[in-house]
Amino acid sequence: MIVAAPHPPTSRPAAEESTRAASPCRLSILGATGSIGTSTLDLVARDADAYDIEAVTANCDAGRLADIAIRHRARIAVVADPTAYRELADRLAGTGIAAAAGPEALVEAAARPVDCVVAAIVGAAGLSPTIAAVRQGCRVALANKECLVTAGDLFMREVVASGAELLPVDSEHSAAFQAIGASDLDAIEQITLTASGGPFRTWSLEQLAAATPGQALKHPNWSMGAKISIDSATMMNKGLELIEAFHLFPVGVARLGMVVHPQSIVHCLVSYRDGSVLAQMSSPDMRTPIALALAWPRRMQAPTERLDLARVGSLTFEAADEVRFPAIAVARQALAAGGSAPAVLNAANEIAVEAFLGGRIGFLDIAATVAKCLEAADRRGLLAPAPDLGTVLAIDGEARQMARSLVNQTSTT
Ligand code: NDP
Repeated sequence: MIVAAPHPPTSRPAAEESTRAASPCRLSILGATGSIGTSTLDLVARDADAYDIEAVTANCDAGRLADIAIRHRARIAVVADPTAYRELADRLAGTGIAAAAGPEALVEAAARPVDCVVAAIVGAAGLSPTIAAVRQGCRVALANKECLVTAGDLFMREVVASGAELLPVDSEHSAAFQAIGASDLDAIEQITLTASGGPFRTWSLEQLAAATPGQALKHPNWSMGAKISIDSATMMNKGLELIEAFHLFPVGVARLGMVVHPQSIVHCLVSYRDGSVLAQMSSPDMRTPIALALAWPRRMQAPTERLDLARVGSLTFEAADEVRFPAIAVARQALAAGGSAPAVLNAANEIAVEAFLGGRIGFLDIAATVAKCLEAADRRGLLAPAPDLGTVLAIDGEARQMARSLVNQTSTT
């Protein structure tokens, strides 16, 4: 079963409406100030009459959010961080745009009836608002992979129960969605996600031990937010994406693979039992998968660099090195363990990435911290499946505490 509809949707044709000025697509953007949010707004601005912006959200960047809300004539702007409320309210005073703050306001904003919600908050902080969006049964363009990593089974049950239309925004999953089309999942032998290998693809272990946040943030192909850039450098991103694919395209772990492809032109390959392999290609620009998620089943005009294969010259592929990039194996183990192991993996990774960016641990300590946290969580019996969202959030919180104390131990040794 593929929940992301391979066929033209029958329920809410938001994308079709989006091309008609008479009935613009009502759209909310969670994480509007981020990299995905900015790319989404760039597409929206190019066809402004086709969209009616309901809610835009951010964490604490009230100034930027207010600018976005005013420019795109949103009805409400919400910051998750209550201390940012005053600035937001002052900036929006007299505009007619409502301002709100706090986690509950974020969930309420996500639940406001629309045709489509772009879920682009970073991290597990996106889980509750994205589930609120899913529960209203609209189209959800899902960039926030941590939702599926943290609460995949529960999240997908919510999608099925609400009839929401889940469209993946992550480029590899958007590519898989396109290459699978209406095919029967039984006919698929392998779904292979590609990985750029990140900025440290050719670095030795000694070099990796001394890698700085500044170096790790310089992705060779993609322009992204800080957290996913570090995840790409450790290759934890590919581990998270395998877990994401596991839930979106339920072919089983054994039929999910990855290959390093430094040019980031081929985003995913789907191999069929008749020997055919379908690949989706594009220049590395997130506006292409976002455009697909907004316009599906149509194709909208996107201002991305067109692929010129003669200029690219060669497309190369190599196996991932799990010795230099142990995060891949750690994520695979969490996927195999199931239950709440992926939630613990994600929470520990968020804490470790934050600590690395803050200069408190080294680059190689990121995957090591996550592995140790999973072991500790297992010893404490925390890896059982979580029956509900409250339990997921409790396990997430506990795993963060454990990861923080592991970080403290690492940074003082
Ligand atoms: P950014 O860091 O650029 O942006 C994150 C957004 O989330 C910002 O709007 C930020 O607000 C908001 N935010 C941060 N913390 C919280 C919080 N605690 N509560 C509510 N909102 C919060 O991230 P990206 O755009 O790079 O990534 C967003 C998601 O998309 C991630 O899950 C990522 O893995 C996924 N993704 C991103 C890709 C990319 O190319 N960037 C590619 C594929 C997937 P503020 O500005 O105030 O901090």
